[in-house]
Amino acid sequence: MPELPEVETIVRDLRLIVPQRTIKAVRVLRPNVVQGTEETFISTLIGKTFRSISRRGKNIVSHMSHDYVLVINLGMTGRLALDTDNSALTHPAVQFQLDRGRPLVYDDIRRFGKLRLFKEPDWESQSDRLGPEPLSPDYTYTDLYEKLASSSSPVRSWLLNQKNLAGVGNIYANEALHLAGVHPRRPSNNLTEPESKLLHQSLKTILYSAIENRGTTLRNYRDTSGLRGRNKPNLKVYGRHEQACFSCKSLVERIVFSNRSAFFCPDCQR
Ligand SMILES: [Zn+2]
Repeated sequence: MPELPEVETIVRDLRLIVPQRTIKAVRVLRPNVVQGTEETFISTLIGKTFRSISRRGKNIVSHMSHDYVLVINLGMTGRLALDTDNSALTHPAVQFQLDRGRPLVYDDIRRFGKLRLFKEPDWESQSDRLGPEPLSPDYTYTDLYEKLASSSSPVRSWLLNQKNLAGVGNIYANEALHLAGVHPRRPSNNLTEPESKLLHQSLKTILYSAIENRGTTLRNYRDTSGLRGRNKPNLKVYGRHEQACFSCKSLVERIVFSNRSAFFCPDCQR
């Protein structure tokens, strides 16, 4: 499932391609990925120009002319790519014909992704419901520590809640906890201030390094050119259960809680 680094990679690619391009036609091949009626979606977008592209949590946010915002959540297997010979688009769901160049295609094998249209103020209030951006310079370890202190849920589950922190999913939550030496099942309010500081720094380190590697491809994720992310070899615990921890050689364990697997080293993580 695409998380912050994968979405950030796509956003950075799109920034080089779509701003100032105008949508000439929209084809909705899979109406269930579009929120609202297909007709409204199409008629609203035709003639609108992409002004800027940004990321909020795991969402691709396209600011359009006339104060519209197109928000794309990739769900499990969503992709956004220019329709080129090597873009590996197998399940096109929505196609945007632009005023020049190749069409921009939203492709989604499992179709859990969503394309939503907002007016600017409505998107602002949606965005306000999400937690802070972990890579924002304004986000301090004190913010993390104080928020953790008000929750007794396991810290791994706390990190996955988008209202607490925007953009972190199961891969990077597990990796950051491993780097910080914190057991995924620890109650959030049990973390000390130094541990919170370490976790805050670990989140940034893990996320920046994954962005540098253009994301993690376990199976379906591809960038806008159809290429795989290169971060998988950097994973220290995620998907590595019963393999040796790189730091201490103990076997990485997997447990399931809140319906999601948690991966950790029983010796490095307390
Ligand atoms: Zn270890």
